[in-house]
Amino acid sequence: MASQPGDGDDKTATGIIHHPYVAPADFESPVVGVHKASTVFFPNMAALRARSWVDKSAYTYGLHGTPTTFTLEARLATLEHAKHVLLAPSGLSSLTVVNMSLLKHGDAMLLPDNVYFPSKEFARHEMAGWGVPHRLYDAMNPASLAALLTPDVKLVWLEAPGSVTLEFPNLPALIALVRQQAPQAVIALDNTWGAGLAFNPFELQGADGCVQGVDLTIHALTKYPSGGGDVLMGSIACRDQALYEKLAWTHSRLGLGVGANDAETLLRALPSLPLRYHAQDAAARRIATWAAQQSQVVRVLHPAMVDSPGHAHWAVHCSAAAGLLTLEFDARYSAAQIDAFVDGLKLFRIGWSWGGPVSLAVPYNGQTLRKLGSPYQGTLVRLCIGLEAVEDLIADLAAGMARLG
Ligand SMILES: *Cc1c(COP(=O)(O)O)cnc(C)c1O
Repeated sequence: MASQPGDGDDKTATGIIHHPYVAPADFESPVVGVHKASTVFFPNMAALRARSWVDKSAYTYGLHGTPTTFTLEARLATLEHAKHVLLAPSGLSSLTVVNMSLLKHGDAMLLPDNVYFPSKEFARHEMAGWGVPHRLYDAMNPASLAALLTPDVKLVWLEAPGSVTLEFPNLPALIALVRQQAPQAVIALDNTWGAGLAFNPFELQGADGCVQGVDLTIHALTKYPSGGGDVLMGSIACRDQALYEKLAWTHSRLGLGVGANDAETLLRALPSLPLRYHAQDAAARRIATWAAQQSQVVRVLHPAMVDSPGHAHWAVHCSAAAGLLTLEFDARYSAAQIDAFVDGLKLFRIGWSWGGPVSLAVPYNGQTLRKLGSPYQGTLVRLCIGLEAVEDLIADLAAGMARLG
């Protein structure tokens, strides 16, 4: 009689699991393997008791790291000028884990009014519900930050440049204010735009020559590090050991992990990051210069443009810029006309995110974008420059301008 599944004499089921596989020690190739695990085997109980995932000296459980994720974290630490990196399933979750780790009931946090919008929403809903209020400051006016630095402030977020409108703040001045007036506060920067390439947020030079640096950065790896528009991931980076451990324990207790295939996709994309970033930077500047000459556009928001807010700060602190620019259209055009302009573009696709190969366009209402008041009267169109030929992108925009009249 043929053996049935579960019969004691059927060795096949056991044999296909307990095979004599030995992990390759001398196998080197350009890309790290995709190591998948929930369970990680320990050779004996002494090893189970001795291993630590917190200092990343050993493997304990898939959620706490694999050779693939540890390698990605180490390479991102280099990119971010940091020592420690944690991976999260999205850029937004890397932001929220920082808030949840560092703030408790009765603490307060400060956000720039031009912060990445979903960050504001998390503060308004979840953090407020947990008894953690937030206050908004104008990142272009250090006095507005100074006025909010009370003893209950435990976390101050920075973003450079601001979301959509790309104002570049005086980062060392803002950091120095927090250090002087709220030394108890952790300073965190959303470094997605700079991507580790435009400036080093851990070592900025103040006007007085003093080095000012943030305590931690988050990075939406979804954007430039992925570069494909196909992976969602985020990172948290810092230099201080105690801060890292605090964040790592919260991260672990929240059960945040990333998929091995996604981590490997990031590892494949990372070597070309500087080339892509600088190419998209150069293309965006050519398009910004062209757009500034169009009669339909009253201003081009891009930190390298001299009339863009904070241009002087960008020029002092940055060696590059991301491939983002925002066109402020003349207020004589209605929102519907600008929607039609965006709908009519052929190469620029309509969609969120940035850093991928395909150029994107999204309109925003300049007047309702900010809580503390907006200097933008007309409709804004944010452009994310992809990897297409610049002349083709300019021709697409020029045809759209002609249709707009
Ligand atoms: C996209 C983005 C995020 C969030 O990243 P996701 O991976 O989409 O969650 C956070 N901050 C900035 C500045 C971003 O552009």
